Amino acid sequence: MKKFSLLIILSLITFSLQAQDSTWTIVKSKVSGYTATRVGYFYAGPSLKNKLGKVKVGTKVYPIQQRGDVYHIRFQDGQIGWVYFTMLKETQPMEITKNTTLNEIKGSGSFRLGKFIDSLKKGTIVTGFGLSKNGGVHYVKTEKGQKGAVIRQYAKALVEKEIPEYSSQTAYKFHFKTDIDLDIVQKSDSILKKKFGNPEALVFNKDQDTWYYTNIETYHNKLRFKGIKFFVKDNIVVSDSVIGKGSSSFVDKLPLYLTIKKMNIFKSDDSSKKISPFKNVSKLHWIIRFFIRIFQLILGILFISIAHFVVLFITMRIAKIPSLNNGKVLLIGYLLSISLNYLYYIFLLAHVIQQPYFLTFAMAVVLYFSLKTITSRINYHRCPQCHTMWSAIDKGSKITGQTHITDNKSRRKFSHSTQTSYTKTNHYITEKWKEYSTEQEIKDFRQCANCGYRWNVERTETVDGHV
Ligand SMILES: [Zn+2]
Repeated sequence: MKKFSLLIILSLITFSLQAQDSTWTIVKSKVSGYTATRVGYFYAGPSLKNKLGKVKVGTKVYPIQQRGDVYHIRFQDGQIGWVYFTMLKETQPMEITKNTTLNEIKGSGSFRLGKFIDSLKKGTIVTGFGLSKNGGVHYVKTEKGQKGAVIRQYAKALVEKEIPEYSSQTAYKFHFKTDIDLDIVQKSDSILKKKFGNPEALVFNKDQDTWYYTNIETYHNKLRFKGIKFFVKDNIVVSDSVIGKGSSSFVDKLPLYLTIKKMNIFKSDDSSKKISPFKNVSKLHWIIRFFIRIFQLILGILFISIAHFVVLFITMRIAKIPSLNNGKVLLIGYLLSISLNYLYYIFLLAHVIQQPYFLTFAMAVVLYFSLKTITSRINYHRCPQCHTMWSAIDKGSKITGQTHITDNKSRRKFSHSTQTSYTKTNHYITEKWKEYSTEQEIKDFRQCANCGYRWNVERTETVDGHV
């Protein structure tokens, strides 16, 4: 029996930066340059969708973290929000993230760099003093005092290490608003912080504060929301509200999926920790790495086949009940296989392998082989007469029918070459032939050692070769 499977390995790389105090200044507050909606406001999350307020030019802010083109900032009054990078004037220490070059500044609006000045090694600390109009290059000053331009992507601002860098792997995932209501609402905000960590954004208002968590996946009314906000008054969490428009994906619509997901069988923040088998063997020979992959593949196939093995174990025990005929045992086996494999599939999807398309394919393969295994075990090894298991004796087999399969094949074959005074030309002919294979219908004869009953099992077999 052939088995096919795929294994997808995720590797996670995390960056951390040293703490450094710095202040930045808002340089833009009016609509200009980039997308209008992204300038002049600060937002609840890095997606820049939920506006929290306007920012005036000259406002001093503290950078907390940088995610791509978006900065997480804190205002002097304590408010926290996200802004697009073009709003900030960077006069801060910056770290070079890739070996690159320092070039002359070539016009204020240019993406391109001027003449080469010096090379900059990864990890070098420079001082930023501005950004080109289009945002393509950073103007920086090195420790040697050289001033020049660096491609923006290669210079990253050093930020306060207060809020952990966001990653989908570390994102907290909680499900159903009702759980949150029970655990957090009407309790102290320290419980909120303990459970979800620091908020993505925190807005202080006169009457109540709003804590935004845009990295918490929330379920409500069978819809998936990309965030939740809590309202806090006098250090007590007053209420909560989901952010944005809810959606439901294909997995959310599967029967029982949300129920199993709600069970929180694993702590969801632990379940996403993937351990790389290459942690300490990255320098090992590729052959060893190859065998580790093979070993992983085998483990992976065994892991997603657990429900199948359970079904097979139960079915083989049910097969020992003499009062049940083969048809009933098969029916019970099929129903068990379909239901247990489905439950296991939903469980894996909710808590272990969050890749619906890969898992659906893999589980369909497992189910196919599971049904096939049950069928052959019962037909081959269980007496249809006295219903004894493993009593069958092999009494040989007979070919009952044959189907010939013809396959046309062709290839270009060298024929001859002609020679003129200047050139030699090769000539080819197309050679055609037919290939035959045979599909045999075979009857395997079985006899019961217990009651002597004879029966046969029909199967097909493909034989390569000519007729
Ligand atoms: Zn028998």
